[in-house]
Amino acid sequence: MRRALTAAIAALTVTTAGGLVAGAPGHAAPPGWGRPVVPAAAPQPGGPGLGDSYFPDYGNGGYDVAHYDVRLRYDPDTDRLTGTTTILARATRDLSRFNLDFLLDVESVRVNGWQAATTREGVHELAVAPRRPITAGQQLTVVVRYSGVPSETLVGGYTGWTRTADGAMAVNEPESAWWWFPSNDHPLDKATYDISVSVPTGVEVVSNGVQPRAPLPEAGNRTRWSWRTTSPTATYLAFLAIGQYDLVTDTAPNGQPVVNAYSTTLGELGPAARASIERTAEIVEWGSGLFGPYPFEAQGGVAGPVDGIGFALETQTRSVYGPGFWRRGANTYVVVHENAHQWFGDSVSVADWSDIWLNEGFASYAEWLWSEEQGEGTAQELFDFTYASYPADDEFWQVPPGEPGPGRIFDDAVYDRGAMALHQLRLAVGDDAFFRILPAWTAAHRHGNATIAQFQALAERISGLDLDDLFTTWLLTPGRPDLASADRRAEPPAAPPAEPRSWVKIREAHALLDR
Ligand SMILES: [Zn+2]
Repeated sequence: MRRALTAAIAALTVTTAGGLVAGAPGHAAPPGWGRPVVPAAAPQPGGPGLGDSYFPDYGNGGYDVAHYDVRLRYDPDTDRLTGTTTILARATRDLSRFNLDFLLDVESVRVNGWQAATTREGVHELAVAPRRPITAGQQLTVVVRYSGVPSETLVGGYTGWTRTADGAMAVNEPESAWWWFPSNDHPLDKATYDISVSVPTGVEVVSNGVQPRAPLPEAGNRTRWSWRTTSPTATYLAFLAIGQYDLVTDTAPNGQPVVNAYSTTLGELGPAARASIERTAEIVEWGSGLFGPYPFEAQGGVAGPVDGIGFALETQTRSVYGPGFWRRGANTYVVVHENAHQWFGDSVSVADWSDIWLNEGFASYAEWLWSEEQGEGTAQELFDFTYASYPADDEFWQVPPGEPGPGRIFDDAVYDRGAMALHQLRLAVGDDAFFRILPAWTAAHRHGNATIAQFQALAERISGLDLDDLFTTWLLTPGRPDLASADRRAEPPAAPPAEPRSWVKIREAHALLDR
């Protein structure tokens, strides 16, 4: 959910896009995107981006990945990673060459068995020129062999790979894959994954989905851990946690496997981490009642080590949490937030990073719904207190959650004003329609991508109301909305509103999640 250098990397993207879209705001399409296939034309390069308005060179054009087989070897002592990733894809048009997003040193690339030439371009682009041209619809098997030291592989002084005393974590948003597997790195291209890592025996490896087999001993006192996810997964939601972990496995009320993992470095933070993450299956069951059927095949959480990440991320089927959430005891609100993302963000993913409100506004509002369920303050009380906690002249109100800008996709406003926007929608359409809109949304775009405009259209269809004013006011207009005209309630709030009992925990969670 949070990453240190969004603005820095956004700036790099602009300066190194190689004459593509050059970071222009708006939804400009790169060459070839959406263009009908013209059989007579010569094959063209796939292009280094997917037309994202905030990060134009994230992802690549001309092909669609179905599956990644990521087979790695990792040594915590040196942070050396070697690997072979096999990508199964399909060309979406005739291609003379195509790009992958990747940073480590590439030893070789083969396309359908034939050695291919590669060149480095921009910040993270690996251009692949196959010996034979590729035709639209053709199946591609791309095998990339590589190695590197991810913690020392920097972009603008930054690495999305976190090295720890006992291992490493590949957990970051939006940039994570660049440091451990070559990919089409945009949520528009989801795929299934087999992820396996050979580590010295005694080290644990945790990743997405389920373990298709028990850890397998290998020569040299090593062990290979295997994980598999059969649901479409965005690249930034694939993850690795390598180190000293206690694994706790169980079966959820819906019959699914639960795998939780706790870093042994947590010490006195361990019980609070367990008292929070062990409630995952309960929270998933609660969420299923509000948001529709849980969209994936497994559940769980990973409590990272004391020297790991400082945030949490909704990595698919198994969210990862930094240690800071447990410093003042258990916090179920962050577990609710990350698991709500399994519906809002992971299954229904952004079509463009400017749609980030569809992730963070909804996951934050889920916390308010959980507070209501726990009897720790209603969503209305949380709305009133949040609204009152930001004075009208606070910078907070200047960031519109529906178009925050590439350097502010994890701004406070995307979370807090984002949740306020959903509460205003609930007041406008009524509880009956609101709690039909949420599962209708997750059903309509299950395992896909969507835009804020599509959400507004669905909410208008279900409610029968024109919601344009509401969405414009709460998502797109800088400045604090005037409650007298913008609030849908009959009764004005008490002044000043009382602090809901959940407030402290929600604040503690958000202090680490947003920025
Ligand atoms: Zn979030």
